[in-house]
Amino acid sequence: MSVAETIVLDAPPFVVARAAVSAIDRVSPSFVRVTFTGSDLDEFGDPDRILDQRIKLIFPPSSGRLPDLTHPDGDWWSVFLAVPEEERGSMRTYSIRELRVEEGGTSVVIDFVLHLEPGFTGPASSWASQASVGDELLIVGPRRGRPAGGGIEYAPGSAREILLAGDETAAPAIARILEDIDRDAVGCAVIEVPYADDVLAIDAPAGVEVRWVAREGAPNGSRLIPDVLGYLGATATVTVMDDGTEELLWETPVYSGSGEDLDAPVEAIDRYFWIAGESSVVTTLRRHLVKDLGIHRSQVAFMGYWRRGVAMRG
Ligand SMILES: Cc1cc2nc3c(=O)[nH]c(=O)nc-3n(C[C@H](O)[C@H](O)[C@H](O)COP(=O)(O)OP(=O)(O)OC[C@H]3O[C@@H](n4cnc5c(N)ncnc54)[C@H](O)[C@@H]3O)c2cc1C
Repeated sequence: MSVAETIVLDAPPFVVARAAVSAIDRVSPSFVRVTFTGSDLDEFGDPDRILDQRIKLIFPPSSGRLPDLTHPDGDWWSVFLAVPEEERGSMRTYSIRELRVEEGGTSVVIDFVLHLEPGFTGPASSWASQASVGDELLIVGPRRGRPAGGGIEYAPGSAREILLAGDETAAPAIARILEDIDRDAVGCAVIEVPYADDVLAIDAPAGVEVRWVAREGAPNGSRLIPDVLGYLGATATVTVMDDGTEELLWETPVYSGSGEDLDAPVEAIDRYFWIAGESSVVTTLRRHLVKDLGIHRSQVAFMGYWRRGVAMRG
């Protein structure tokens, strides 16, 4: 093993990078695309396999001073918790739309959804709406070259066909998955966005149909759910019910956020489903897929990415 490899394996699995905005592009009515650079990003992320890798962003508190999360063993989380709440800033979860490793350094591109209605906005969305070149935040994500750091859920195994479905918060992860997977993949991606003008370019495999559906003021899920069920040959009167919890649904073939017993994996799965978005909408889809259509739970990752009326805590 070379000296460089020893260093990578000994280093903590996560990088806490102080990164600065280098470009801002308002790509559509609901998305702002922000590019971050900085020397701390030189060890950040694996450009060959990003998929739906989740990362944490820490936005500055009102003082504007980002916390110092340095820890000798890389335990940034315990340092973060020890910082008084008003000095910590706000932590939220995001996806990597693009990771560019170039001679001049690494750039991380994030697509932020702008939800700015009074009473329904939050620190991440409002930061993104006002960001300027040079503004800084902390990005916590996997260390380059460090295998199995966690945070990737997309795992289709040997499935013959994939179905990806999600709302605007899942659009960056869906786009990244479609751009990273083998070019011979087949299936469909359904993405629900606020407006028709929110459709963005995705370089998907030719065999994967990408369907954008726009709510245009209709409730969350009202276009996504019928479209997904229609693709599966089913119809249903769809009512999205608030499931009375503040938690995010997180049920994947290998993890159950609610502590349900995991089903034994099905040996060879035909279709793999990856579904993410507003938690009640994902719960509704789960009910239809698992209960009504009998789809085996070990074929599906159901992930609540946010919840209407609830501020996330990281
Ligand atoms: C694994 C994962 C990956 C994600 N990737 C992305 C990504 O790449 N891009 C992205 O934009 N989001 C992404 N999200 C969702 C994002 O973390 C949440 O939307 C988060 O709540 C935004 O934080 P905030 O500070 O803006 O709002 P919060 O302070 O968390 O919430 C304040 C209020 O805003 C509402 N709210 C939150 N999000 C939305 C929304 N999208 N539309 C309408 N109302 C909303 C809440 O219900 C609440 O009432 C991801 C989430 C997860 C779990």
